[in-house]
Amino acid sequence: MLRIPCPHCGLRDYTEFQYGGDASKIRPVHTEECLAPWHDHVFLFDNPKGVHREYWQHRLGCRQWLIIDRHTATNVIEPTTRDPTNSDLMNSDLMNTGRQP
Ligand SMILES: [Zn+2]
Repeated sequence: MLRIPCPHCGLRDYTEFQYGGDASKIRPVHTEECLAPWHDHVFLFDNPKGVHREYWQHRLGCRQWLIIDRHTATNVIEPTTRDPTNSDLMNSDLMNTGRQP
């Protein structure tokens, strides 16, 4: 079973969290001339085996967004941090997707 260490609440079951996507992706520059980079950003996903940087929200706890480095084959999680670089993350489209892990 996957347990995620929240820096605010401690070690919790993954069912308290919502997966928010790949935290290593960089959004393309917004232009109207070429939408191919946005298509790739929104619809194409890697399926890595190994350590993967991911967004998770502690929805049933402190509701903070975290960046987690998780090994996709073993579910071993490296130290967790609150996302310090995306203060506007809460207002992004990513938060309204309703996706489940
Ligand atoms: Zn928490």
